[in-house]
Amino acid sequence: MSAPVADVAVIGGSGFYTFLDDPEQHVVETPYGAPSAPVAVGTVADRRVAFVPRHGRSHEYPPHLINYRANAWALRSLGVRQVLAPCAVGSLRPEVGPGAVVVPDQLVDRTLGRAQTFVERGAVHVPFADPYCRRLSAAVASVDETVRTGGTMVVIEGPRFSTRAESQHYAAQGWSLINMTGHPEATLAREMRQCYAAVALVTDLDAGVAAGSGVSQEEVFAAFAENLGRLRSLLSDAIAALPDPNGCTCATWADGIDLTYDIPP
Ligand SMILES: [Zn+2]
Repeated sequence: MSAPVADVAVIGGSGFYTFLDDPEQHVVETPYGAPSAPVAVGTVADRRVAFVPRHGRSHEYPPHLINYRANAWALRSLGVRQVLAPCAVGSLRPEVGPGAVVVPDQLVDRTLGRAQTFVERGAVHVPFADPYCRRLSAAVASVDETVRTGGTMVVIEGPRFSTRAESQHYAAQGWSLINMTGHPEATLAREMRQCYAAVALVTDLDAGVAAGSGVSQEEVFAAFAENLGRLRSLLSDAIAALPDPNGCTCATWADGIDLTYDIPP
């Protein structure tokens, strides 16, 4: 097996289209089609890091039309075993406002009909009780004391924002964050036997908690732009603090299981 091109990945979200200085560009084809963009690879904290903007370099792919499988497969084919996934989120809690960074520990899928698995035959059932890698999440939280940890992110289909009633319903379940891309990205990473942590930047209070007119796209992008520098440096620090992926349950769950899909070597 050849040496990996990269062993860590960052998947950029809305407003986050580049991460690395002077990167190599890798055009990767996958059995699922092309990823959102050529994969940029560079060095951060002595680690080889791959970066792909999940919406494309010019934000050409809305959340429900991202080729999540191609992105996951492409990163794994370059050797990636640890994935940091920054994303823009709305807050369902008035006490957690714009600018907060949260590493959630649970996910609820409210998307519809997305291609969400590599399993297309046979009996392969992926453990997903804890959707995020605890070790990776802890590493992110360890580098900045302002990072909040825990909470449930509900992933909606989009591209529209929630109604007030939907948002109030989600908040009443005890869920704390709302987003449009966290699923199926996390489960596909698990199927690729990768460690995966979401790094959620709160850009707005969702419709159910905002007193004003609800969420607007301008508000989301402006809040993200304002916090992008801080998020980039947080991710760089987190990469320096990542644990050894060997032996993590994010990969070992598949030991002894006859997987019916291919994981690129
Ligand atoms: Zn892990």
